[in-house]
Amino acid sequence: MKINLNPNPSPASDADREAKIAAGGFGKYYTDNMVIAEWSEATGWGDAELKAYGPLSLDPATSVLHYGQEIFEGMKAYTQPDGGISLFRPEANALRFNSSAVRMALPEIPVADFVAAVEALVQQDRAWVPKNVGESLYIRPFMIATEVGLGVRPANHATFLVITTPASAYFNPNKAVTVWISTEYVRAAPGGTGAAKTGGNYAGSLLAQKQAAEQGCDQVVWLDATERRWVEEMGGMNLYFVKGSGADATIFTPKLTGTLLPGITRDSILKVAADLGYKVEEGMISVDDWRDGVASGEITEIFACGTAAVVSPIGAAKSAAGTWTTGNGEPGPITQKIRETLLGIQHGTIEDKHGWNVRVG
Ligand SMILES: *Cc1c(COP(=O)(O)O)cnc(C)c1O
Repeated sequence: MKINLNPNPSPASDADREAKIAAGGFGKYYTDNMVIAEWSEATGWGDAELKAYGPLSLDPATSVLHYGQEIFEGMKAYTQPDGGISLFRPEANALRFNSSAVRMALPEIPVADFVAAVEALVQQDRAWVPKNVGESLYIRPFMIATEVGLGVRPANHATFLVITTPASAYFNPNKAVTVWISTEYVRAAPGGTGAAKTGGNYAGSLLAQKQAAEQGCDQVVWLDATERRWVEEMGGMNLYFVKGSGADATIFTPKLTGTLLPGITRDSILKVAADLGYKVEEGMISVDDWRDGVASGEITEIFACGTAAVVSPIGAAKSAAGTWTTGNGEPGPITQKIRETLLGIQHGTIEDKHGWNVRVG
């Protein structure tokens, strides 16, 4: 896929850009440019174009608007100590994008083309990459079904886009979040789309998120659809439980059953935790195991992880069956250690033993 460079002729002024970066938050301001490419069943992928960020013009009968056939990714670019910029495991995002595409009956995009599109945009808009540790340029590649028509079938036309937004810390890393364990709603069911990064999974989660807020909680925890017993994820993040403490601690995460989203942060933490000398384990944990483990002191720390927030400590958990708190509600030492190590690798201050960072210029 060739990328035709046709950048924004009137990018933001230095002052405007700096003010928008300094404003922090998540997804409030977008950079000067975007990448767009079109696919049709008849001709495959056309050239991509890097051009000024701006609105799309869609026929009201465009299929994505009706049937939600769409996928997305979330990844980041980080400033390095020498002032350069790195992406973190971009091929992993490309591979997951393609598995989401297969599940949602959208076309795959060659891994090299996906990565090249992201690199071209980050290079073009490099002045937008924040400089401080914990800040980054969040990159949102996505694909929408753009066949025009209300017939229900896999679209024969699709549009791939990449947009970017400067991001500061998503959650306050020093404040544990409280979670509502939903037994009423589920995020994903066996045979469904839980392992695909698709908007519909999020649309279906919003009511439970609202319910969590009504319960005074920050986030919702999802259980398995069948038994409403096994802990799967928190909001749009994977979960980790620390059992024991100190060098003997075990870092445990729910295994990928097909209904969980296979997080790249989750996968990276499995490796980082092992590098740090902790035992790592993937398995099943029930709500009862959670409550009992916290009560007995076996579970010492809990955190959620994902690209946007990196690592986010979890304090109190609330469900229809009661409330229980891990530790003193503050982020624990192992949570902090893992967070700092991962951030250090991403920002180039800790050795990248796994070759995860990909330099962009
Ligand atoms: C994106 C996402 C995650 C986290 O994935 P990362 O690759 O670590 O960012 C976890 N759960 C859900 C439901 C997601 O959509």
